[in-house]
Amino acid sequence: MSQPAEAFTAEPVLSVNNVEVVYDDVILVLRGVSMGVAKGQVVALLGANGAGKSTTLKAISGLLHSEDGEITRGNISFEGETVSDRPPEEIVRRGIFQVMEGRRVIEDMTVVENLRLGAFTRRDREAVKTDMDMVFEYFPRLRERSGGLAGYLSGGEQQMLAIGRALMARPRMLLLDEPSMGLSPMLVKEVFSIIGRINREQGLTMLLVEQNANYALRMCDYGYIMENGKIVLDGSRDELLNNEDVKESYLGGGEERRSFKNLKSYKRRKRWL
Ligand code: ATP
Repeated sequence: MSQPAEAFTAEPVLSVNNVEVVYDDVILVLRGVSMGVAKGQVVALLGANGAGKSTTLKAISGLLHSEDGEITRGNISFEGETVSDRPPEEIVRRGIFQVMEGRRVIEDMTVVENLRLGAFTRRDREAVKTDMDMVFEYFPRLRERSGGLAGYLSGGEQQMLAIGRALMARPRMLLLDEPSMGLSPMLVKEVFSIIGRINREQGLTMLLVEQNANYALRMCDYGYIMENGKIVLDGSRDELLNNEDVKESYLGGGEERRSFKNLKSYKRRKRWL
């Protein structure tokens, strides 16, 4: 792997160092992953199905334990302190919030109740109210439906609610797992544009896992590409957007996606012919 120079020289607020993850004591899923996220950056983690992206997020948020997963080598630090040996509730207390894949709002609670749940550890009622107004400003549809049950929201609105609920906790870093999943192209555009606004206006550090490379690469500062539990490429947004292999494997429209490994052997074969 090349050195993620920009991310690391910018003093990463989150460092993942050579992390290996095993599920059920035997299934090796992450095979020495290293990455850095600098303060205020949006960093994208891209890769095909099953590459290990969600597992990386769960290793950071501590949610691996509930799935019989374990970090067997390496470590993760946040703001200079090791978190990979801490329980998930402590990682949340330190300010890392994961917005799970598939939204996971509480369906039989109202929108407002879901948002309040995000702020349940906070005692500063006035500030909580101000933050709820801020969430409604980012997501006006949630204000319109504030008294309605979350279960009746559309998929896109539930995604917005999941992000809004995380914001109510005043996170120091947000881990977003596939915010575009299951959304129509128009809604994907809207959700990404709001995520970008939140990053710029709040200076909120984000690690974004996405299969929709087109959107994720355009909005990130730095990106990592993962295959089979390893980082195979990293670089700034412009480096990745202009990289021929990335264009061919991840940004091509409609063509069958080739993995980097296959792409390399395909190019070798092409040279030999
Ligand atoms: P996707 O984009 O499909 O969500 P991903 O890149 O996020 O994929 P992961 O969900 O991290 O990939 O999965 C990586 C590998 O680990 C897959 O082979 C998956 O089957 C396996 N895996 C994930 N969770 C578990 C689990 N709880 N127990 C055993 N194996 C798991």
